[in-house]
Amino acid sequence: VIPEVIRKLIKILMKFPSIGPRQATRLAFHLVHQEKSQLENFEQTLKELQKMRICPNCFFPYQGNYRLCPICRDNSRDKHVITIVEKETDLISIEKTKTYKGNYLILGGLAKREMLEPAQKQRLNALERRIKYELGGKVKEIVIALNPNTYGDFTFLLIKKQFENLADKITRLGRGIPTGGEIEFADKQTLIEAFKRRS
Ligand SMILES: [Zn+2]
Repeated sequence: VIPEVIRKLIKILMKFPSIGPRQATRLAFHLVHQEKSQLENFEQTLKELQKMRICPNCFFPYQGNYRLCPICRDNSRDKHVITIVEKETDLISIEKTKTYKGNYLILGGLAKREMLEPAQKQRLNALERRIKYELGGKVKEIVIALNPNTYGDFTFLLIKKQFENLADKITRLGRGIPTGGEIEFADKQTLIEAFKRRS
């Protein structure tokens, strides 16, 4: 009984994180009942989304005709302190504290197994090349801001091994973030404390 176009929409929505078939179906029918102007706005936004670029340094998406994202373009920020996060939302949470003035690398969501995806290895290799050829061979600090769980621990050790000769120190954020807790959802004060007490 489900019309073809809605079936197509459900298929698309089900690819989103934590959206199951039931929610996808509900959302699809919700969209059908939106006003035409609302749907046109949605369509327009999706078109603009396709023009977004991904920063070759930190992998954060940005708009406009620049080579790098606004964070990486900002010369008042310390390029020799690099925080490695899992997701864009982790970066946003850290930026909200307004206390961190370094750069980032977004690794991409960790799979729930003890290995890195090829795309994640590429990102780490891109950082390695950047430190070697653009940042004088060594940075001051790499802060690893991965969630405190088994996969975060495993990835921390991998990164530490790859970068031990490319940074004066490699620290880990997470003391203060409750075990199993998420950086994305940590409140501002907890994050500020976790940064202060990184080790
Ligand atoms: Zn960037």
